[in-house]
Amino acid sequence: MSEKKGKIFVISSPSGGGKSTIVRKILSEFPEIVFSVSATTRPKRPDEIDGVHYFFLTENHFLDKIKNDEFIEWERFYDYYYGTLKTFVIDYIKNGKSVLLEIDVKGALSVKKNFSDAVLIFIDVPSFEELVIRLKKRKTESQADLQKRIDRAKMELSYKDKFDYIFVNKDLEEVTSQIKSLIREILKKGEIV
Ligand code: 5GP
Repeated sequence: MSEKKGKIFVISSPSGGGKSTIVRKILSEFPEIVFSVSATTRPKRPDEIDGVHYFFLTENHFLDKIKNDEFIEWERFYDYYYGTLKTFVIDYIKNGKSVLLEIDVKGALSVKKNFSDAVLIFIDVPSFEELVIRLKKRKTESQADLQKRIDRAKMELSYKDKFDYIFVNKDLEEVTSQIKSLIREILKKGEIV
């Protein structure tokens, strides 16, 4: 009899590191991996869907969930809260499904504390200058938000050595294919025969 064990994959990168695109490509290749929809108090962007990209909550609702111990981890940055919901991750893992978390570096390290076999993947940028250029191109934030994200990126980069795997995003297709190969290998090993 073969049994498939659910895995937790965590992908982090500084804002502008390209992780959202990479995550989308991974999910389309691995239908057996579920995206962990986080909760947040950040306002919804025009292209985002509640329950798909995030669960958009009021601050009071989020604080209630912290009180009720409903998060595996949560962080407050900029003026908003972000958190990984226990129900989401644990239910899937128990049922043999793997989950992919796209969260910040501190959240990633908190997940690893609770789930030591979680696989932490850091997507690095070729250079800090390039990261700043990418952030400016996005134009989704005001000037003040942009500066906050640049400062935040510096902090996030300082955590990369704590990750299990680091990939440099020089070429989107190439880095995506490298990460897919890693995930494929890990999922194969998770099959206990
Ligand atoms: P954004 O506001 O651009 O969607 O996300 C800002 C940052 O929050 C990104 O680095 C994203 O990965 C991170 N993030 C999203 N969900 C979570 C979460 O549940 N927990 C933590 N710790 N960070 C999250």
